[in-house]
Amino acid sequence: MSETSRMREIVILGSTGSIGVQALEIVAANPDRFRVVGLSAGSKNLPMLFDQAKRFKVPFVATTATAEEAKKYSQGYDGEVITGANASTELAAHQCDVVLNGITGSIGLSPTLSALSAGNRVALANKESLVAGGELVMKFGRDRIIPVDSEHSALYQCFLGGKADEVAKVILTASGGPFRDRTDLSSVTVAEALAHPTWAMGPVVTINSATLMNKGLEIIEAHYLFDIPYSRVDAVIHPQSVVHSMVEFIDGSTLAQASPPNMKGPISYAIADGDRVAGATRSIDWTAAHQWSFAPINEQRFPAVALARHCGEIGGGATTIYNAANEIAVAAFINQTIPFTAIVKIVESSVNALAQSTLSIRDLSDVSAIEQDARLHAERFVAEMRS
Ligand code: MG
Repeated sequence: MSETSRMREIVILGSTGSIGVQALEIVAANPDRFRVVGLSAGSKNLPMLFDQAKRFKVPFVATTATAEEAKKYSQGYDGEVITGANASTELAAHQCDVVLNGITGSIGLSPTLSALSAGNRVALANKESLVAGGELVMKFGRDRIIPVDSEHSALYQCFLGGKADEVAKVILTASGGPFRDRTDLSSVTVAEALAHPTWAMGPVVTINSATLMNKGLEIIEAHYLFDIPYSRVDAVIHPQSVVHSMVEFIDGSTLAQASPPNMKGPISYAIADGDRVAGATRSIDWTAAHQWSFAPINEQRFPAVALARHCGEIGGGATTIYNAANEIAVAAFINQTIPFTAIVKIVESSVNALAQSTLSIRDLSDVSAIEQDARLHAERFVAEMRS
């Protein structure tokens, strides 16, 4: 068996979410390449979690549900069940080839740290790990992380085309979301914000794409993953979402990675640890005429991008606040408590109120404390808007 096709044992965290489900489809299509040795999910979709575990004969299942809750759905499953708040973190330390972290939100940070400190490689879809706790994650070594985020997967691949000290800048592409060309964003509804033009993703990521908070998070993610200063991380609107990102080198040459928008490309590349999985996505059809266009981001209409850069330059816990306040604001928008345009205002207010007083992050409890302050501030802002 060649090195390329060797069997990889993987743990999937967040298996019932969009990334996890697509990863299992890749595994099902490539049984000679991947074996799933652990699955984790929250408590909301236990029937699906145990269906997956039985179907893929997975020896370990972790869920944040209680043992009693898990028991209701685990009939016929004969593997080991880990329960409780730290279940994903425990499972992430299980020795394997790659831990895929497909958890949404900064609750994914602890499992990322657990996987890295156990010596595992991490296929990281949980960008919040880097935004909330980038300094901590980097202590365990960025060289064991392969990004799953499509833009960062593209950068990772483009970086292979030159030396690190030959990189002039990285350019993230952004679809621009559903409101790219809409001038008045004050009347945006939840349904409109959830209808993404090119990518099918979970609800939080989709709202983040509509505000361009997602691009802000990804600028921070790129800074940590590739150890590149914020001044050399650009973002550009590319509505077709076919060019996933670019690296510009000092000789004026730019390398881009392109494929039709489909997360199975970056997921398979990451869980195969940088090897190519045949047929992971369809390829670009060069027999049909098509155009790729690029345009600068309108930072007045989408202030989330400049705010991310601002937080990154402050450093310390500023990006932690950026993410935590956004998690509260997005939930409030989905519950129809606040208007769309208030999301970034809440994040900005939280950053302005708290960022200068947060120092560097030493451990997970520092992250939790900063997040708690940010959430409280954001919740107060939401409550004021309601009254
Ligand atoms: Mg992305």
